[in-house]
Amino acid sequence: MNQLATSVFDAEPIPPEARQEVEGLLASGDLFRYTAALDQPGPVQRLEDEFATLMGAKYALALNSCSSAIFLSLQSVGVCPGDQVLIPGFTFAAVPSAVIHAGAQPILVDVGDNYRIDLADFEAKLSSQTAAVVISHMRGHTSDMDRIMALCDAAHVPVIEDAAHSLGTTWHDKKIGTIGKVGCFSFQSYKLVNGGEGGILITDDEDIIARAVIMSGAYEHNWQKHRLNINAFAIHQNMLPLYNLRMNNLSAAVIRPQFAEIERRVNDGRANHDYVAAKLNMSPFIEVPKPLAPERRAPDSIQFNLVDFTDDEAHRLMAVSKSNGMAISIFGLHADNARAFWNWKFIGNIPELPKTRAMLMRACDMRLPARLTRADLDRVVSGVLGSIKDVKG
Ligand SMILES: *Cc1c(COP(=O)(O)O)cnc(C)c1O
Repeated sequence: MNQLATSVFDAEPIPPEARQEVEGLLASGDLFRYTAALDQPGPVQRLEDEFATLMGAKYALALNSCSSAIFLSLQSVGVCPGDQVLIPGFTFAAVPSAVIHAGAQPILVDVGDNYRIDLADFEAKLSSQTAAVVISHMRGHTSDMDRIMALCDAAHVPVIEDAAHSLGTTWHDKKIGTIGKVGCFSFQSYKLVNGGEGGILITDDEDIIARAVIMSGAYEHNWQKHRLNINAFAIHQNMLPLYNLRMNNLSAAVIRPQFAEIERRVNDGRANHDYVAAKLNMSPFIEVPKPLAPERRAPDSIQFNLVDFTDDEAHRLMAVSKSNGMAISIFGLHADNARAFWNWKFIGNIPELPKTRAMLMRACDMRLPARLTRADLDRVVSGVLGSIKDVKG
């Protein structure tokens, strides 16, 4: 057995400042974001102001999940029922689900063995039918945003960044989530900031934020509480459906004090990742794909490809690593994995994506939270290498 001091699924404690704010909310019963007075912003409004500042974005809208953020982004950039939306073939099932929720048709783009969008396939599938593009920076692996933005700008197609799991990642020193028209982030417990559930979208576009705010559930004149340009909202009054995807004050109280932790979690997570990656890369049976030059990731997990493994050996590695006490999950071999496109049966016709399929059959996924110690990391490395040795001899 090869046990870590702590499970990789254990969260970090919530900073103590959250307690006082939560106690206050429990005492007053003031849990709904829009009970706050116009001149006294409540926790959700303050979270939006702080996050927008942190990201250098003009506007932010806090929601109950990143899935809601992606759905509202699609609605707000003008995707209509029947439209096509390009998404990567390697992403979380929430992304094709958001497209279906918007009544649109997801068009899956092939992804290479470095977990990034295949640009030839992207260019071939971007067409006059494309109403929007969602780019998932899966586990922070950033596709070539220079090329993607150039192609989409030329075609006048809005780009929505699914940065659910990439808070802290940069591209040419620019924060991921600020490159496209809208950026979406998650505060679900397995992401960098843990609110249990939660999400947020950011944009510099006044019409997009106005539409998103109203559709998130700012019914009647509640949009006034956002203290944005009244004219941007007035034209949409009573014209948009209300989906009620708002964040509540308790979530904001738990999330806000963690913003001060982001920089440490990003730096520690990156150091942990790079330490483990360097050791694993010494094995002839493992390849950790290199980042693209402009990318600086904020990983809390590691992905690596098995080299020279047969299907049978890959299956045996999953079983052996599990009984060795440090389970290695292979995206495509793990039954019903929500990141394997062939499991998205709800989208209807699933296209064949040969590169994505080949990658998923050999790509391993391990959580590597920022709080792991060097001793933990050494146990992770010896656990992985030990299981590889058990299979490959
Ligand atoms: C977690 C995740 C989502 C969904 O986020 P929720 O807040 O759980 O809805 C979407 N996309 C990616 C890439 C994710 O990792």
